[in-house]
Amino acid sequence: MDTDWEQVRSDFPVLQQVVNEESLVYLDNAATSQKPMTVLQSINQFYLHDNANVHRGIHTLAQRATEQYEAVRDQVRQFINATTANEIIFTKGTTDSLNLVASTYGQFIQAGDEIILTIMEHHSNLIAWQQLALQKHATLKYINLTKEQDLDLKDAAQKITDKTKIVAIAHASNVLGVVNPIKTITKLAHQHGAVVVCDGAQAVAHLPVDVQDLDVDFYAFSGHKMLAPTGIGVLYGKQALLKKMPPYQYGGEMISVVNQYDSTWAELPYKFEAGTPNIAGVIGLGKAIDYLNHIEMTNIWRHEQELVQYIFPKLLADPTLTIYGPPSVTKHTGVIAFNLHSLHPHDVATALDQDGVAVRAGHHCAQPLMNALDLKATVRMSLSFYNNWADLDNFLAALKDTKEFFNHELI
Ligand SMILES: *Cc1c(COP(=O)(O)O)cnc(C)c1O
Repeated sequence: MDTDWEQVRSDFPVLQQVVNEESLVYLDNAATSQKPMTVLQSINQFYLHDNANVHRGIHTLAQRATEQYEAVRDQVRQFINATTANEIIFTKGTTDSLNLVASTYGQFIQAGDEIILTIMEHHSNLIAWQQLALQKHATLKYINLTKEQDLDLKDAAQKITDKTKIVAIAHASNVLGVVNPIKTITKLAHQHGAVVVCDGAQAVAHLPVDVQDLDVDFYAFSGHKMLAPTGIGVLYGKQALLKKMPPYQYGGEMISVVNQYDSTWAELPYKFEAGTPNIAGVIGLGKAIDYLNHIEMTNIWRHEQELVQYIFPKLLADPTLTIYGPPSVTKHTGVIAFNLHSLHPHDVATALDQDGVAVRAGHHCAQPLMNALDLKATVRMSLSFYNNWADLDNFLAALKDTKEFFNHELI
């Protein structure tokens, strides 16, 4: 497909602004994505014309709201190729989805069981497991990195054993920019009878995801990193596992019969959706998926890779920069973490912002990874398909300005 990428970019109103007297260069997409006009309009449209609570109402507006809400569930199913819409649970986001799995599937964990994480996990896919392990007297183990700062598959093969019950792993790292070999991990985990919980927060908006092909048991992601609003996310789970799991939260919507002293639960997926959901968020998520599908995920991946191929070698060749993650352009998503000489990442990010460039600086919710790399923090630029070549050139120019500004400290 021949995509008009400048047309695509013009669909995002927020990008068309001046920040500190320069055109905004938004390179903080790993923190949150911007939203196209169609998503913004769909939320407005819902509140202007259709607003009602879902599932409970007989009246026309309630039916309209319910139809739209449930149609998105099937859209999500198609988008990640789940077998049935019952496997799609709406949550608040990746963090909520992962906490759901840890606190419900986690109840099956016993003393002496092992939970395997990777050292590159975001705190979202780490603390819930760490606390579960502490409560259940289970053992937590981390798969380490290779010298090239990629996932060490040899270490994975040693650590995943018959004692392993859960392997929790990011599909794509929010710091190192690597895409993990999830199929290899699921195969290994399943040989030992363990389930795989995959954190897809940095993957779904950037590459095609097929949960059946990956054969993951759970897959979590956030709407706001894939063009949808904040406060909406998804947990995919294999139906047989979801059926076995106890509810996450109690309240309206998730019940079948409530007596004074006991209750029974609704069928999937409602068992896991207590209370009034984020209806407008779900509708926005549906429009975001329409938008991504229209461009096509394979096309988005290819385009982002072209942008990476332009910028990554330039950054890698710059002797004042230290780049994290594998030093190979073919192993990098549009997430590039770096440090500029010995400057504090916050100073670098502040200087870049003076030129209208938005990047992130900090530990990126990955303190164990920072410790493993013997770092406190990094700067991180992160791309989306709506970034263009001018953004990358402006970023390079801003980096040059930053170096000149701090020149006395670099000598
Ligand atoms: C952003 C992110 C999360 C957390 O997502 P929330 O939307 O804040 O819940 C988890 N894992 C990774 C890899 C992320 O990038």
